[in-house]
Amino acid sequence: MNKNPMGQKRRVCVIGAGTAGLCALKNSLESGMDAVAYERGTEIGGTWIFSEDMPKNDYDEVHSSMYEGLRTNLPKEVMGYPDYAYDNDIEDSFITSHEVLNFLRSYAEHFKLGPHIKLQHEVIRVRPRLDDWEVYVWDHSTNTCDPVYYDFVYVCNGHYTEPDVPEVEGADLYEGKLMHSHLYRRADKFKDENVLIIGAGPSGMDITNHVRREAKHVYLSHHLATAPNTAFMGNVTQKPDVERLTKNGALFKDGSSECFDHVLFCTGYKYTFPCLSTDVGIQVIDNFVQPLWKHCININNPTMAFIGLPFNVIPTHIFDMQVRFTLAFFTGQRELPPREQMIAELEKEIGQRWDCGFYNRKKAHQMGERQFDYYNELARMAGIDNIKPVILKLMKDCGKKYIFELDTYRSNRYTIVDDENFLKNGKIAN
Ligand code: FAD
Repeated sequence: MNKNPMGQKRRVCVIGAGTAGLCALKNSLESGMDAVAYERGTEIGGTWIFSEDMPKNDYDEVHSSMYEGLRTNLPKEVMGYPDYAYDNDIEDSFITSHEVLNFLRSYAEHFKLGPHIKLQHEVIRVRPRLDDWEVYVWDHSTNTCDPVYYDFVYVCNGHYTEPDVPEVEGADLYEGKLMHSHLYRRADKFKDENVLIIGAGPSGMDITNHVRREAKHVYLSHHLATAPNTAFMGNVTQKPDVERLTKNGALFKDGSSECFDHVLFCTGYKYTFPCLSTDVGIQVIDNFVQPLWKHCININNPTMAFIGLPFNVIPTHIFDMQVRFTLAFFTGQRELPPREQMIAELEKEIGQRWDCGFYNRKKAHQMGERQFDYYNELARMAGIDNIKPVILKLMKDCGKKYIFELDTYRSNRYTIVDDENFLKNGKIAN
């Protein structure tokens, strides 16, 4: 099955060489496939590349949302791949973006991925043919664009670069500055300003903690059911959702109003796949990418897989699992269920999410507590190794800390003892 009818190795195209793309490339090569990863940037690493570059015009894009001083919100002990962990020489568990980037470089080096990665090669169009995929790749260095043909496509283009900015009433009247966290780079830009930060997800909370050190005052607008502990944030006032923006501030849902100089939207990102033609058969409606089987296989063209769409997960481990899951089918070790069954399973899962009342389309790929069942399901269906219990336990220990223990949790140090146990600050934890 790893050979096509002409006796050639099966060809795999990986779009992107970030954490997910590197993993798809490595596992495809190990499965005996002829795999190539196309990366539009000048280096591998995606999200973890810090750059001060700003868009030069309306059509220009900036490819990373990384900012100065970021320390990871998960410990490095859960950010490695199952077969390639972080070096224990790094003492801290919550590490810098440079350390993550170095780790990804060493992963690529260790598995000798370099010869299979084409930098400055941007996939600009993917179209299904009768038996394979036509992929147009633009080589930035020669400014040429040629079609290449593949049996399988892994879409690993990341989903933290296209800002999702909600429509806010009065935005046209507001005369102050506006920014989305995608272009936030350093806190000193907000020196002595009054700032409104909208959103209290991982980015909103962390950026609040950075900006408040430079700003005169920060208003943090959110609708979390339980308000974050703000004892450490002397110059931060929590606010409910914005009712409408005004000329120099905002009116909030509780009737209060404030004036500020800058609005910083930490309202998340949109999934976008600009290089996929419509006949790929994938639609994104309100951030629900469909129709996908098990959040990764394109039901309309099941030789294409999307890696890394679920959020509130253990990113690197879920990427690796989705890749091994899909390869079980791509290599013929497992047979895909009929299309009708995949559609029925998708509808059932989405129905269950809707029934919870809490979910909407925007949260179609949110996992949270569901992630553990998801991992079990992938492992069972594809006959692959599950994520080790110690990783899952450690992940549970870290959950929501970015909201309720933001000021202290990054000083925790974890050590993995064995497949089941870990130490937290030198003591056995459960
Ligand atoms: P990316 O890293 O975005 O990589 C996608 C790659 O695809 C990029 O290199 C891009 O240039 C390339 N590409 C896109 N389109 C094309 C194309 N058409 N042709 C060729 N190449 C293309 N996760 C954690 O586990 N811990 C954390 O602490 C953490 N902190 C985060 C902080 C921030 C500010 C952000 C934004 C994310 C954070 N994440 C964190 C999530 C993190 O993004 C993921 O863990 C992971 O790095 C995503 O990897 P990816 O490969 O899916 O996407």
